[in-house]
Amino acid sequence: MVNIILLGPPGAGKGTQARKLVEERNMVQLSTGDMLREAQSSGTEMGKRVAEVMSRGELVTDEIVIGLIEEKLVGDSAGGFIFDGFPRTLPQADALGRLLARMGQRLDAVVEMRVDDAALVARITGRFTCGNCGEVYHDQTKPTAVEGTCDVCGSHDLRRRADDNADSLKQRLMEYYKKTSPLIGYYYALGDLFSVDGLGEIDAVAGEVAAILDQDRG
Ligand code: AMP
Repeated sequence: MVNIILLGPPGAGKGTQARKLVEERNMVQLSTGDMLREAQSSGTEMGKRVAEVMSRGELVTDEIVIGLIEEKLVGDSAGGFIFDGFPRTLPQADALGRLLARMGQRLDAVVEMRVDDAALVARITGRFTCGNCGEVYHDQTKPTAVEGTCDVCGSHDLRRRADDNADSLKQRLMEYYKKTSPLIGYYYALGDLFSVDGLGEIDAVAGEVAAILDQDRG
């Protein structure tokens, strides 16, 4: 069992790689972004409170996301946890360390996905997903075979995120560089950091991630 963090700016491919790991390795994906969007669509108080913050591309409070992760870190984690979009600040990283220690577990690797900003804009502004199965598509690089229909599950519920536009993305990148990128140094110092080239094809990136997960940790 391996617990990993996928770290990288919006559009780096964290969600796409996480989905592959869930399928191929029976790991459990914990995406705070997905949890927050779920809270929004189910109309909970917390969901309503964070909707505006998210659409502006800002980070929601540490307290809220740490609470969401804490709720999910119970029971059997099968092949291990993939933290996708969490932690995004130093206090969140500290909290994750404490939560894992409490469960008698540890973090095995932090995979930094490197992608330059120009590629991120192109990826994010063309992105859409299936509301039913979560498959991720792109207008240019990965369109559905039949327009308006998900290739995987046949659903017609294809969605674009409210924050996947150029303005919100600018703010999301700013938040990433200011608050999240310090985690690269934090995990480097702990000896947990590994970097992959996130610009490659999905399967090439997956190969690099697999090599990190499979390395002998003694
Ligand atoms: P994501 O789906 O990971 O791109 O997250 C979408 C949005 O949810 C972000 O732009 C933030 O507003 C919020 N969010 C997700 N995860 C976190 C986190 N760990 N800390 C703070 N805000 C978060």
